[in-house]
Amino acid sequence: MEDKMQILISEDELQKRIKEIALEIKNDYNDEEVVFCSVLKGAVFFTVDLMKNYDGPCYLDCVRVSSYEGENSTGNINLKIPLKKENIEGKNIIVVEDIVDTGRTLKYLVEYLKEMHPKSVKTCSLLDKKARRVVEFEADYVGFPIDDLFVIGYGLDYDEKYRNFPYIAYVKND
Ligand code: 5GP
Repeated sequence: MEDKMQILISEDELQKRIKEIALEIKNDYNDEEVVFCSVLKGAVFFTVDLMKNYDGPCYLDCVRVSSYEGENSTGNINLKIPLKKENIEGKNIIVVEDIVDTGRTLKYLVEYLKEMHPKSVKTCSLLDKKARRVVEFEADYVGFPIDDLFVIGYGLDYDEKYRNFPYIAYVKND
């Protein structure tokens, strides 16, 4: 596996773009409070760096869903760690995701969140594989649109491995 990996987005490129996204969000919300809702586990690295660069009042919450086994999406979304209504109601929620692929996860999460009556819900994804969309979905903030590649690193795994890479790499096909 390791010999088939190629760097797609370097650590420097990631950090530069994350600073820009943090500014973009700050310009939209000014001094209003926002809740960054990190989609575990993949978005952990991105959420941490985004929040460290966010110069405004904010909170952290986490949700855990799963839909992937190995390289293949099962198509079913399982809510493994739910959110608490009191942390969502009346708040500005920004769902922070590692990657939008079929679009099912974020579409599901936005609908789930809306039932808890937040003040607003937006989505922020580090990566976006537009070509793979199965349901109609557009994230409000996107770090990098990418081609239809299986990527790992910076939180993204292959069977739980490689999340620790500080860059995004892709797995070359034979
Ligand atoms: P969606 O529901 O949009 O199809 O999938 C979103 C989830 O699928 C992501 O949070 C991520 O866990 C997983 N995923 C989609 N594409 C990739 C990929 O290229 N690499 C990895 N490691 N996970 C992916």
